Amino acid sequence: TGGRTPPRLRALLGSIPAYVPGKPAASAGGAGWKLSSNENPYPPLPGVLEAVTTAAGRMNRYPDLHGTELTDRLAEHLAVPASRIAADTGSSALLQQLCRIAVDPGDEVVYAWRSFESYPLVARLSGARPVQVPLTGDEAHDLDAMARAVTDRTRLVFVCTPNNPTGRALRRDVLEPFLDRLPADVLIVLDEAYLEFVSDPHCADGVELCRDRPNVVTVRTFSKAYGLAGMRIGYAVAHEPVAEALRRTAVPFGVSTVAQSAAIASLDRRTELMERVGELIAERERVRGALLSQGWTPPDSQANFLWLRLGEQTTSFAEHCQDSGVTVRPYGQDGVRVTIGEREANDVFLSAAGSWRADAA
Ligand code: PMP
Repeated sequence: TGGRTPPRLRALLGSIPAYVPGKPAASAGGAGWKLSSNENPYPPLPGVLEAVTTAAGRMNRYPDLHGTELTDRLAEHLAVPASRIAADTGSSALLQQLCRIAVDPGDEVVYAWRSFESYPLVARLSGARPVQVPLTGDEAHDLDAMARAVTDRTRLVFVCTPNNPTGRALRRDVLEPFLDRLPADVLIVLDEAYLEFVSDPHCADGVELCRDRPNVVTVRTFSKAYGLAGMRIGYAVAHEPVAEALRRTAVPFGVSTVAQSAAIASLDRRTELMERVGELIAERERVRGALLSQGWTPPDSQANFLWLRLGEQTTSFAEHCQDSGVTVRPYGQDGVRVTIGEREANDVFLSAAGSWRADAA
């Protein structure tokens, strides 16, 4: 700094936890597999790659500001007016934007814990007080306790379904009464990053739930089921005032031309992509079944990952996996989340999980 004092940044920065990305693939023993970031293991479809290459030829021009073509295509696909859709650079950006448009310093933001690590981050960045409501004993949202945690200072409630990192998803018959019970002036954000992996027909669909509820917004992403994590593109569906506020406050031209075209090309190939999702769901059930027979108790997951509650053994189990050639995601002293990846990767994980149980016995 050459002896000069650094500029004064906002004092609240000290209270903001850093976002920790999943570690790269384990390198022990050669190959190494990364099952720590809930990524889609399939490479891009040739048609998507082609669309991206074509779009890259226009990189001297700014992108379409609001992604009109993509928004129109999503509107058609979801059967909602395009005016109710806002696209942005991943659902991460939308979660942050939603806090920006709804929350003032000193307000409260309610969410379950454990859940997605961005919630405390974006809440604190808005100067809000994060209010964390513990999950139930079976790793699901405690909607009753969450409703009771809402005060007249609450401006926003995050609901993550399926929940990252536990995988539990909320059924329509429990989520609907919760939405109707909260005050109409509280913005309820349904984070459906993993929606496409839901196989339980009783689970809620956020787009349906927000259709007649002006205070409900659904956030989805192309990062997971569509396999576009590196492209950074997601969208929100809400009533016009909320969608409009999101569009108006977004960083201009955030969503690149290549990202927009990758998303459009993926919607064109949705059938093929959803077949891959079907394979991942089948793998999830296979891995869960194998874990159960090894004596583990992973909760029912409706996402592309499984959750193992390990308490104090969290770090050592994650290290054991790393040493066995597969990287998983440890969460403090709570547990480990393992992404469902390619079959070989899942088998390496299963053998690590099996040898851990054998050592423990
Ligand atoms: N919501 C949840 C629940 C997530 O797990 C993630 C990714 N880890 C995101 C949002 C953000 O994803 P993206 O920004 O890639 O859309």
